[in-house]
Amino acid sequence: MHEPEHELEVLREAGLFRNLRPLDGPTGVRLHREGRSLWNFASNDYLGLAEHPAIRAAFHEGLERWGHGAAASRLITGSLPSHSILEESLALAKGQGAALSFSSGFAAAVGIIPALVGKNDHVLLDKLAHASLIDGARLSGATLRVFPHNDLEKLARLLSGIRSKDPHGRILIVTESVFSMDGDLCPLAEILELKDHWGAHLFLDEAHGLGVLGPRGMGWAEELGVQDRVDFQMGTLGKSAGLAGAYLVCRPIWRDWLINRARSFIYSTAPPPALAHAATAALELIRSAEGAQLRQRLQDNIRRISPTSRTPILPRIIGENAAALATSAALEDAGFLVPAIRYPTVPRGTARLRISLSAAHPAEALEALAAAL
Ligand SMILES: *Cc1c(COP(=O)(O)O)cnc(C)c1O
Repeated sequence: MHEPEHELEVLREAGLFRNLRPLDGPTGVRLHREGRSLWNFASNDYLGLAEHPAIRAAFHEGLERWGHGAAASRLITGSLPSHSILEESLALAKGQGAALSFSSGFAAAVGIIPALVGKNDHVLLDKLAHASLIDGARLSGATLRVFPHNDLEKLARLLSGIRSKDPHGRILIVTESVFSMDGDLCPLAEILELKDHWGAHLFLDEAHGLGVLGPRGMGWAEELGVQDRVDFQMGTLGKSAGLAGAYLVCRPIWRDWLINRARSFIYSTAPPPALAHAATAALELIRSAEGAQLRQRLQDNIRRISPTSRTPILPRIIGENAAALATSAALEDAGFLVPAIRYPTVPRGTARLRISLSAAHPAEALEALAAAL
């Protein structure tokens, strides 16, 4: 067995060591870390809901009405109204028949994918997919093929190859709507064409699409008007919704199946009921006129930093780990929290700064950042 001292030293030398930096108080668009005041360009709180008074009030209300702890898996004690109401709202908002909530996006991915596919099936995964999707695909035991990022030709070739040998096996295409470290979008309309043509299913992770895209903020699938064609739409409540937890929307029959088969749902305590109540309020806010205003403000903020980007995730590729870390440290000295993202979160040699914008960033913070960059 390798000794951790040695392994950690190897990480340090490669510029890949990670440690936790203590915050001095609550997080927000302005935060305090190790005695410094920083503008936060690191969070995924794209609409500022993590600090929104209405969501805080909903959390309090949920706490009083439904309590703080669920105390058991929903299959053991029973299902609280706060969870069912959230799921009904999600299903309706996403134009699907049903939804199921999970305690995190990571738990959702590693619970759902292995419940949908197994040994005799196939998973086709985008090369830049999130760690939770990779782990879910591996855990499933299905034959895993990775296609180059957003490469439709390769995806089509893989589909046709599998179908020529296995006319009836289940094929699950797994990808993201907004890629978490690059901020680009998947060619969703084309992927839907392919999956329909070859009789495959699509699992779409809208973690960074919710709140940001679509006329009601429901994501990339809503923006393209194809919500009812995506078989499995996953999202997290930890990003634009400003809370924690996650969900899958799908047909009711699949929900029944997942309640019986998704191990991270079955064998895990239900999320705090107060959280589910607050999440319903966050979903309502995202869909409201105020949500549309926040999205407009977010798009205005994006334009100030990167006129060509549609999403609030703005990578600045640097290459070497040490250089990315040094640039991030220099920005921190100047009063900005902009994280350096390194392998294995991104491919080797593509270490980068990841700037993430929020509707809550004031003009002065954006102007100062643009000047510092
Ligand atoms: C953050 C993220 C997840 C995990 O969601 P959590 O709720 O934070 O566990 C899953 N997929 C993608 C694409 C993400 O960016």
